[in-house]
Parts: sequence; C-alpha cells; structure tokens
Amino acid sequence: MPDIARLCIIGVGLIGGSLALALRQAGAVGSVIGVGRSAANLEEAVRLGIIDSYSHDAATAVESADMVVLAVPVGSIRPVCEQIRDHLPADAILTDVGSVKADVVEQVRAGFGELPARFVPGHPIAGTEKSGAAAAFPELYQGRRVLLTPLQETFPEALAKVRRMWESVGAEVETMTVEHHDTVLAATSHLPHMLAFGLVDSLARQQDSDEIFRYAAGGFRDFTRIASSDPVMWRDICMHNGPALLGAMSRFEEEMAELRDAIEQGDSDRLVEIFSRAKAARDKFAG
Ligand code: NAP
Repeated sequence: MPDIARLCIIGVGLIGGSLALALRQAGAVGSVIGVGRSAANLEEAVRLGIIDSYSHDAATAVESADMVVLAVPVGSIRPVCEQIRDHLPADAILTDVGSVKADVVEQVRAGFGELPARFVPGHPIAGTEKSGAAAAFPELYQGRRVLLTPLQETFPEALAKVRRMWESVGAEVETMTVEHHDTVLAATSHLPHMLAFGLVDSLARQQDSDEIFRYAAGGFRDFTRIASSDPVMWRDICMHNGPALLGAMSRFEEEMAELRDAIEQGDSDRLVEIFSRAKAARDKFAG
C-alpha cells in the first residue's frame, strides 16, 4: 500500500510533474490527478505518464485526495486556496513547493481563513530553467535538498508524511523558519536570477547585441542560463519576497560600487584581495 493513496498536483509543470513522476517511480503513490488551466499541458502530462487524470477545477480535484501539492507560481496560491477551502478533506495533507515561504504562508492563511494544521510549507532546492509538464523528469530531486518550514500550527504527523514523500524521491529534507528560508534564498537563488536577467537584458538592449552574443563563450552561457527561466514565475518571486530580495540587492550594489571604485582608483591590490576572497569562498563551497 503506497504511503500516498491519491495525490493531487495543482500546477503540473517542471516541479509538480517531476514530483509525481518520481513518486510513481518509487512506488510511493497510488493515483495522481493534475490540475491546471491549459488542456494541452495536462494532456501532455497524461501522455507522459505523469498523471492519471486531470481537471480544470481544483475544488473537485482535491475532494478524494489524501495529499495535495500546490505547485503553481507563488502569486496564484491564495486564489487556489480559496477554490479548495470548502472541498479539501479534513484529513488531507496540503503542502507547496513555492520559492518563497513567508508570503505563501500568509496567502494560505488568507485563502482558508485560518492556517490549516495539515499545511506543511516546502521548497525543493532543485530545478532547471525549463517549464511545463514536458520539462518534468523523475531524477530531479535525487540528492537535492528540500526545505520544509513548519509552523507552530503544523501537525507533527503532517510534517512527517511530507518529509517521507520527499525522502522517497531521493531528497534530503531540512527544516528551518520561514524568515530564515526567505533571507537565505533571496541571497543564493533570487539575487543570482536578478543578475542573470539584468545582465542579459542590458546587453540585449545594446545596438551591437548580436555581435556580443555571437562571441559569448561558455562562461557567459553558464552564468546566464537561468535568464531563460519563466518570466511569470520570477515576477511572482520578486513581488512576494521583496524585502529580503531588496536587502540582498543592496549588499550586492555595495560590492559592485567597491569594485568600481577600485578600478577607478587603479587599486590593483584591492581587486586581488576581493577576487582572492571570492575564489576562496567559492572553492570551499564547491569542494
Ligand atoms: P511551471 O513549469 O511553469 O509549472 C507551473 C504550472 O502551474 C504550469 O503548468 C501552469 O499550467 C500551472 N498553473 C499556473 N497558474 C495556475 C493556476 N492559477 N491554477 C492552476 N494551475 C496553474 O513552473 P515550475 O517551475 O514547476 O514552478 C512551480 C512552483 O515551483 C513555483 O511556485 C516556483 O516558485 C516553485 N519552484 C520552482 C523551481 C524552478 O527551478 N523552476 C524550483 C523550486 C521551486 P497552466 O498555465 O496550464 O495553468
């Protein structure tokens, strides 16, 4: 008997679709129903064996589920919760995969009128720049971290079941507070996306941009890969983790100002000092 009898994935894209595929491969789920707006994406998900069936109506789709995963862009969490609030079975567990946590928790609270005790906020630290069901693959979570940010209200057995779900697909689960999550992810994920989007946009708007991109080498490709990520998803992350992201951007602007100043002053020692410090830090975490 699988740990999850009937899984409902709301938002069958890269993250939700990969989770469904991986749970199926692990034998950890019975049936999977998907929810989304576009029939084409959901038909593709059925064809790829990600889901067994689908609905455009989240309310009816959750009615027989024992595990519901919200895998939509973070700006859509509240309206989805409003749709399912009177239909989610009392003993069903609700979790999410959103890239920001404090705001998602508030949206769930607002959508339900109170925070459901079986809601477990989560965020897999895994992904690619691709989106939609066709981008899903079952190995996505192997050896990757999943951060769960349980609240005072969260039932321990709900937390335990969501932990087992992620561990069954090969992930390493850690818990932390929503605030800590949002600060850390602003620095390590959201800021790098701003740099990639900003760099590519500033170059693309130059008159000789074709020439610039023609001669871009591997390093440029690596650094800017994430600028191919979905614009709506990233709009939502920026809008819903604003304070933490602005803090990370301010610290980065100070660093840029220091580099700029060193170059203007011809201060080569300061440049070597900054680069050496960065290299040591990078070598340490990459090693
Ligand atoms: P995605 O591939 O674009 O999938 C999102 C899916 O949600 C789409 O298939 C979309 O299908 C559906 N959707 C959008 N709005 C909806 C709504 N109101 N109701 C029902 N379905 C809706 O995006 P993703 O990369 O899987 O990201 C999903 C979530 O995971 C986001 O919250 C993101 O922050 C988080 N996350 C992403 C990554 C990453 O690297 N991509 C990593 C960790 C966490 P329709 O347009 O057909 O409705």
